[in-house]
Amino acid sequence: MSSTIAFLSRMSAEYQTPYLASLRSALPEETIQPLHALTPAQRTETTIAIVANPAPEDVAALPNLAWIQSLWAGVEQLVAGLPAGGPPVVRLVDPEMSRTMAEAVLAWTYYLHRDMPRYTRQQSMRVWRQHAYRKPSQFSVGLLGLGALGTEAARALVNAGFVVRGWSRSPRTAPGVETFAGEAGLDAVLASSDVVVSLMPLTAQTAGLLDAKRLHAMKPGAGLINFSRGPIVVMQDLVAALDRGHLSHAVLDVFDIEPLPTTSGLWEHPNVTVLPHISAPTDQQTAARVIAANIREYRLSGRIPGNVDIVRGY
Ligand code: NAP
Repeated sequence: MSSTIAFLSRMSAEYQTPYLASLRSALPEETIQPLHALTPAQRTETTIAIVANPAPEDVAALPNLAWIQSLWAGVEQLVAGLPAGGPPVVRLVDPEMSRTMAEAVLAWTYYLHRDMPRYTRQQSMRVWRQHAYRKPSQFSVGLLGLGALGTEAARALVNAGFVVRGWSRSPRTAPGVETFAGEAGLDAVLASSDVVVSLMPLTAQTAGLLDAKRLHAMKPGAGLINFSRGPIVVMQDLVAALDRGHLSHAVLDVFDIEPLPTTSGLWEHPNVTVLPHISAPTDQQTAARVIAANIREYRLSGRIPGNVDIVRGY
């Protein structure tokens, strides 16, 4: 019989219970238990942990883990809390999450493309003024990150008729997308995009990537959408670029500190839209099915699914 699978999370019981229920229903042949329900013998035998923001000491309480399955796509905090040489981490790659993110990128690109912040401002001043319409084919979107989420977002934007450029660490191709890699490639994407969308993981290389210099390299009047991780953008540099009118608007779903403190000036900044980390939530049912397939594959073949490169950071 297979060893019990541990479920480690710092979620409140209210959030944790439906996740556990979905996982148990997708894997009826397995026993999945939170750490506190495992006996000392079960903790020693456990080889797989499914985690969502686990406490590092909870992971350390399972000495024989073969791998860790994350319920989230972003794993920078999890990886940072693991000892060197710790078990491999498998992040969530769920087509439903990619679809949801693509929908969010398209929705908020339209928000900026159709000048909604400007018309909202005009309405508050009872101003009736029409601005020139630009077709999607006259509007370019720069995607920073062409991975599971970026590729699907690119597809949605291309289908909607936008001019799409994409930037990644290693050279990539995507249908209908002009792709770039490396430092020079980033400058080209920043300088030519009406909206720049961040869909990169937070790593040592991407932390603070969008600083004053890079924001200055963006097209005057461009917008920024950050749907990946807050620290990729240097917030005071972004606010300065918005305040002096170099950038027109920022849609931010992720922040250095979440929830965004009520004292933050971003809440009332006229050129900032604050979203509470909702662009692509994990879908409990589809995530459970993806995780079930990963675990069944491992039980059958002993193969650990594609996992995070700890040195690269994603
Ligand atoms: P992924 O499949 O690992 O793709 C990451 C992409 O970023 C890849 O194209 C990668 O380049 C590129 N990249 C990484 N480091 C780079 C660097 N230094 N310079 C240039 N490009 C770099 O990740 P994903 O599944 O698309 O997810 C991306 C991030 O979205 C996650 O890490 C998470 O933080 C965030 N996220 C946010 C939400 C939300 O609700 N706000 C939901 C889910 C995920 P290569 O192609 O060369 O590897």
